Amino acid sequence: MSTVTNERLFIPQTLREALDLLAEDSAITPIAGGTWLMRAPLRGEPLPGRCLAIGAIDELAGVQIEEATVTIGAGVSHAALARAVDGVPDLRGLGQAAMKSANPAIREVATVGGNLATGGFPAADLVPALLAMDAEVIVAHRDREERVPMTRFLEREPRVPPGSLLTGVRVARRRQSSGHARLTMRTAGDYAVAIVSLCLGLQEGGTITEARVAVGSVEPTPRRWTELEQALAGSRADAATAAQAADSLVAGFNGRDGVEAPGWYRTRVLPTLVRRAFEAALPRTA
Ligand SMILES: Cc1cc2nc3c(=O)[nH]c(=O)nc-3n(C[C@H](O)[C@H](O)[C@H](O)COP(=O)(O)OP(=O)(O)OC[C@H]3O[C@@H](n4cnc5c(N)ncnc54)[C@H](O)[C@@H]3O)c2cc1C
Repeated sequence: MSTVTNERLFIPQTLREALDLLAEDSAITPIAGGTWLMRAPLRGEPLPGRCLAIGAIDELAGVQIEEATVTIGAGVSHAALARAVDGVPDLRGLGQAAMKSANPAIREVATVGGNLATGGFPAADLVPALLAMDAEVIVAHRDREERVPMTRFLEREPRVPPGSLLTGVRVARRRQSSGHARLTMRTAGDYAVAIVSLCLGLQEGGTITEARVAVGSVEPTPRRWTELEQALAGSRADAATAAQAADSLVAGFNGRDGVEAPGWYRTRVLPTLVRRAFEAALPRTA
């Protein structure tokens, strides 16, 4: 039975109740950690009139690490995600993204679902990390479940349609090395001005069999850097060589101007971030 604390806040205990409430009331807004939503006035946006607090729903909790897949509940906080994947080599980049975002207090409450569901937030850290992992987003509607590849999910507006809830994200586990690098202008707690996340399939001897590289915060929407992926495939996994390849390909980006940095600067730092992401993925080459 859902708790109605007042006419403005609903606290469902199950996914079914949440989906029923969303279907019955199109003006109700899901709220998870509230770290993005509650700052709406700072962005000149109105606060939602009615909220659906989804923190008590068990179906959105937990990280399941199995042999072939990892499933992360939408309600998992950045900090809990970092703890859950700590020491799992193929998920290193995801752990780094979760651990480096925001600041310690925010990381304890900000959720995976909130990070992914927020359109118009180019600097989200988990988005490029999950894009590089070729993750699949799970969206529950009242009558069905949808599995949406990250690339397609990011093209949707809104990413999570009214009446539905993002319930989790699934990553296929591969023999891969992954790393995440971000640059902030002043302190670690700032939004990153540019982010590079990558996953590398490696042959014995260090040749890259497959590269997936994702870039966040440079353009309005995070995206894969397919030209660099193609240039890296078949080459030796070496941070300096990768940075050189990135340097020759940055012209393909149209950096966004913003309060933290101009567009040209965001693209200019990409080769350095590619090098750092390589070093983060392959610590022994650092
Ligand atoms: C000081 C500060 C620093 C920050 N720094 C960073 C940073 O460095 N990197 C970074 O990535 N983020 C950063 N953030 C932004 C924010 O913390 C994250 O984006 C966070 O993951 C949002 O999660 P939340 O649970 O708080 O979302 P909420 O604020 O609860 O919700 C955000 C949006 O997502 C929707 N939503 C939430 N969950 C669901 C769901 N399951 N299904 C459908 N819709 C849903 C809500 O309706 C809302 O529109 C920062 C925030 C603050 C306040």
